[in-house]
Amino acid sequence: MRTEKTRCLIIGSGPAGFTAAIYAARAELNPVLYEGIQPGGQLTTTTEVENFPGYPEGITGLDLMEDLRKQAQRFGADIRSGIAVAADLSQSPYKITIDGTKLIETDVLIIATGASAKYLGLPDEQKYAGQGVSACATCDGFFYRKKVVAVVGGGDTACEEAIYLAGLASKVYLIVRKDHFRASLIMQERVLAHPKIEILFKHNTIGLFGENGVEGAHLVKNMGELNEEKVDIAIDGFFLAIGHNPNSEIFKSYLETDEQGYIKTIPGTPKTNIPGVFVAGDVADPTYKQAITAAAAGCMAGIEAGRFLNAV
Ligand code: NDP
Repeated sequence: MRTEKTRCLIIGSGPAGFTAAIYAARAELNPVLYEGIQPGGQLTTTTEVENFPGYPEGITGLDLMEDLRKQAQRFGADIRSGIAVAADLSQSPYKITIDGTKLIETDVLIIATGASAKYLGLPDEQKYAGQGVSACATCDGFFYRKKVVAVVGGGDTACEEAIYLAGLASKVYLIVRKDHFRASLIMQERVLAHPKIEILFKHNTIGLFGENGVEGAHLVKNMGELNEEKVDIAIDGFFLAIGHNPNSEIFKSYLETDEQGYIKTIPGTPKTNIPGVFVAGDVADPTYKQAITAAAAGCMAGIEAGRFLNAV
């Protein structure tokens, strides 16, 4: 396996990774950034970003990430495609295996690997993967023009995806397991007012059916209550929007995580329990999970990386 030595290695290319790269590059740490599984991160699968400061008219997730990437490159960040598949953080320099073909030894590591979509855990989700089941409306919504789809979840993501899909599909069911949303009020109001969205509160999905891909979903209304009732809906597409899991797997044996796998930091800092290993963005954030908070954490990680290297 080829080996390369870096001073500052950043893993992940969402707002956290690119912001860390901007700061590290401007501090002349010569950062190398590997983009990971989803170049540009989760924002590349979203539509309009309305709440990132500085864009009064909003900006698409793709454009925002492209701007961040260009800004990091402008200061000399070395941005590469590749996935970190293994880590050895037992001693410095820390060792990260990229794609199983390259070993990077680094003095400082910034982990900005983000989070990935959760699934319900139904066998049918695997059975119909790529045949009507998706966790990304903006990636796959195009295939459902004038068709009927369902979105599962009651948070901001589910509302946003339902609205996006309603612009393409003839009808969107929004399947919410409780009798209320978790989403922000503004998003709730938008889905409630949308003529093409039907909200199914207190419904759980127990299976999918169809001969050639998804043709419907088996739901249970009022699950576990006396008036529990089975309901089938005819749909062509089934979209998951029930939250995310942190992408911390390869670091877990070295870094402290919470019970959900989010990497723990020393409060108020991007520092982990290992000196020189910093973390930023959704992989360490079970609470806010915003592009702006990820970017801010990336900034802190970039600054701390410089302080650490200059103190060595
Ligand atoms: P959330 O964790 O906020 O919401 C997840 C939703 O999925 C909840 O309604 C939850 O239900 C439901 N859910 C979880 N597990 C299951 C299950 N097994 N079966 C059925 N339903 C389930 O995740 P989001 O991805 O929506 O949002 C994450 C963060 O990103 C939030 O902070 C959100 O505000 C933010 N965000 C902001 C946006 C914006 O500002 N434009 C856009 C998108 C996201 P329950 O409530 O019952 O637990």
